[in-house]
Amino acid sequence: MHPVRGVVQPYAWGMIGASSLVAQLASKFASVDSTQPYAEYWMGTHPKGESYLLDDKQTSVKAYLQRDLPFLFKVLSVETALSIQAHPNKEHAKILHKQNPKEYPDDNHKPEMAIALTKFECLCAFRPYEEIKQFIEKYEQLQILCGKKNCEEFSQSVSSQAELSIQESLLKKLYSNLMQSSPTIISQCVDAHLQVVQSETTNDLSCLFARLNKQYPGGDVGLFSIYFFNYITLNAGEAILLKANIPHAYLHGQCIECMACSDNVVRAGLTPKFKDIPTLIDMLDYQPLTIQQTKFPGKKISENITEFDPRQISSIDDFIVQEIRGKTGCINAIDQPSLMIIVQGQGVMNDGKVQFNEASVFLIEKQTAVDFKSDNNILAYRAYSVL
Ligand SMILES: [Zn+2]
Repeated sequence: MHPVRGVVQPYAWGMIGASSLVAQLASKFASVDSTQPYAEYWMGTHPKGESYLLDDKQTSVKAYLQRDLPFLFKVLSVETALSIQAHPNKEHAKILHKQNPKEYPDDNHKPEMAIALTKFECLCAFRPYEEIKQFIEKYEQLQILCGKKNCEEFSQSVSSQAELSIQESLLKKLYSNLMQSSPTIISQCVDAHLQVVQSETTNDLSCLFARLNKQYPGGDVGLFSIYFFNYITLNAGEAILLKANIPHAYLHGQCIECMACSDNVVRAGLTPKFKDIPTLIDMLDYQPLTIQQTKFPGKKISENITEFDPRQISSIDDFIVQEIRGKTGCINAIDQPSLMIIVQGQGVMNDGKVQFNEASVFLIEKQTAVDFKSDNNILAYRAYSVL
């Protein structure tokens, strides 16, 4: 096994200075600037942030393995919300890349998995329709933006338990109207709705609306999406799996993230970046999910290891993540190279031959088992792929 150095990405939404776990990881190699955001820590072979071996600084992980890893492994420290987005499936990615290679820079899909390290707030998937119905009946600004008639039709279809495909197409109409409203009307509705939420200070969603408006002032179309998508707070150790076309936005907190190697993001709000609302509206998966259904439970495979393998519930085979906990134990050998990051704990591995502490990252070669011993409980994550 080789110690490895990852790459910091200082995106504006990152946590500032030493409060960011990403900064704490980076502090092993450089001093931390207390005024700068530290958003993401990348581990992998992606050309925008390749990892290098620490014991041979000229050699990248890619050069050492003589191949690309099919996944990108990250730590995220999120202070302000990331954009509302979805990722295309493989076929759609090919089409988008051909049509608009500037905004869709590769032809791969980009399934993602996030495992919370702290309380982690996010938006994920359309809510159960009964909840959306209650919001559009309660809030006048939603009726203005979605269209009164559309709202009535949708409510009626939910009340009468019409076929799900009918409810879905009515929801698509509603959401499409909202997202394609004129900037002037959106801005007026945001202002008017702010008056409403300011009188609902004990309502979590009202507080979220006001908070997101502070982060994205001037009438961002994405604000009203909080009434359509599940608002979830994951506890440390809980995960979500973001399959193709599932709408989502990370809002606040720190997590481990693993994804297929791709930059294909279709954005629709809470961002100053390029938005492609017609594409997003068309591609979204409108099926309603409960918060429980959005969560992806890991499976204990040994005393120390919980494994999050997307193949258990999907066709996603680009990555698998293991969570390793305990004072002593063994990390199993696998047939592929893997990357492992120690999030908590210090100690030794390989019969005392390798020392580790918080922020250590290792490349573990294939068919290599690793024993570990620590005075305190370690928390580590390892990513690999069967591809
Ligand atoms: Zn995403």
